[in-house]
Amino acid sequence: MSTPLELPGWRHVYSGKVRDLYVPDAPAAAGDRGGGASADRMLVVASDRVSAFDHVLEPGIPGKGELLTTLSLWWFDQLAGGDGGRGIPNHLVADHELTADDDVRELIPAEVAGRAMLVRSLTMHPIECVVRGYLTGSGWAEYRESGTVCGIALPPGLGDGDRLPEPLYTPAYKAPMGEHDENISYERTQELVGAEAAAALRDASLEIYGRASALAEKHGLILADTKFEFGTDERGTLTLADEVLTSDSSRYWDAAAWAAGATLAERMASFDKQIVRDWLAAHWDRQGTPPPLPPEIVERTAARYRELLGRLTGA
Ligand code: ATP
Ligand code: MG
Repeated sequence: MSTPLELPGWRHVYSGKVRDLYVPDAPAAAGDRGGGASADRMLVVASDRVSAFDHVLEPGIPGKGELLTTLSLWWFDQLAGGDGGRGIPNHLVADHELTADDDVRELIPAEVAGRAMLVRSLTMHPIECVVRGYLTGSGWAEYRESGTVCGIALPPGLGDGDRLPEPLYTPAYKAPMGEHDENISYERTQELVGAEAAAALRDASLEIYGRASALAEKHGLILADTKFEFGTDERGTLTLADEVLTSDSSRYWDAAAWAAGATLAERMASFDKQIVRDWLAAHWDRQGTPPPLPPEIVERTAARYRELLGRLTGA
């Protein structure tokens, strides 16, 4: 993995597979507008790295960090207010459309403008809050074996790509760096975070999925599944964090193709990194270092990411 950028005013503290996290170098004193970000702030910088099957691949996807950050910010905005929704608190320090908030603009270094989010540093729940509206991927593999998804029994006769009778909440334990995330039961989430927080995570995840998939549908897209992460702020408020509803954290399909497609590949024409997963599955035995992605796969993936952003936001 390349060495993280040095950013003026910020200190690098962590790199995940895709993102680099920074904290303020010299936290500003309260009320000091000039000296830097306050201590409870964090900079989340999305790189162009792409991961599949828990490996970071070479090369990156040019423009990916910016595309996915733009998409995340757009979704945060959609979810924050809007029609009928009571608004879901999120971790952004300010609206990144930056109408009037010069602070944010000043605090995000020019080197990473467009692919960085200035957020409040939260205490994260160690849970990946997965919601599945459709059956595919690992869920389909399990269903084919045992008729269940993450241990939840489903009616017989469902096929790959089918819509589920209702969206399923299937949490996973967010393993510490270097380990694999692991699907867990709802009861296990209660043990991990307490009954009240477990219920809040589930309810918020299902609610956001419902709102987001309805909105996606208006743009001719199916939100097949997605993953959220939440934290709590200093007041204990459950807050939506991380990236949201990006093509890294979600599966998006073309709704018309899904309805009319003759083959599975047509039905699940996707706007996410399925292209990368499929190529890798066909060209790598999952032993050792994955082979480099061919330029054609890189370009097709980038094009699909751009198309998703365009379809949703009109950009
Ligand atoms: P990987 O995605 O490689 O499995 P990861 O999820 O730890 O690992 P990234 O997604 O690349 O790595 O990095 C983002 C990290 O920042 C995650 O650990 C996520 O939980 C954390 N994070 C996101 N938003 C916040 C926030 N507001 N406060 C504190 N941590 C956050
Ligand atoms: Mg992550």
